[in-house]
Amino acid sequence: MTMLVSMKEAAEKYLRPLCPRIQKKLSEIVSQSNNVWSVYAGNEKYELDCGLGNKHVVDLLNSSCSCRKWDLSGIPCKHAISCMQLLAVSPETYVNTCYTVITQLNIYNYLIKPIKRSYVMGTYEGHGTHSSSSD
Ligand SMILES: [Zn+2]
Repeated sequence: MTMLVSMKEAAEKYLRPLCPRIQKKLSEIVSQSNNVWSVYAGNEKYELDCGLGNKHVVDLLNSSCSCRKWDLSGIPCKHAISCMQLLAVSPETYVNTCYTVITQLNIYNYLIKPIKRSYVMGTYEGHGTHSSSSD
């Protein structure tokens, strides 16, 4: 119960839209996206050349890349981020909502209500599974 409260309080203190670990991971991916060239192919799709004949297709509308990393993790891959940089759009807006602080606050909004100890002890004694003396 105290862990839920401490997690909620930690989430309330964080001012950025994404959770800290995801924000750090996204920053690492952004730094890797500099050597990828993207070309607009229409309908929110881009073709990317990573060199050595290695090409990928990014679909910003469906949050998908042919490398499948974005599809599996919910965090844009370096190919998708290269496209976002071309559009001057923040990659944070394309991260899956399960990684946002707002979602974490909603998760920890429902706390476990404390119960009286005597009620718990009465339940155990009533079933005969626990025979300690109560106070
Ligand atoms: Zn990709």
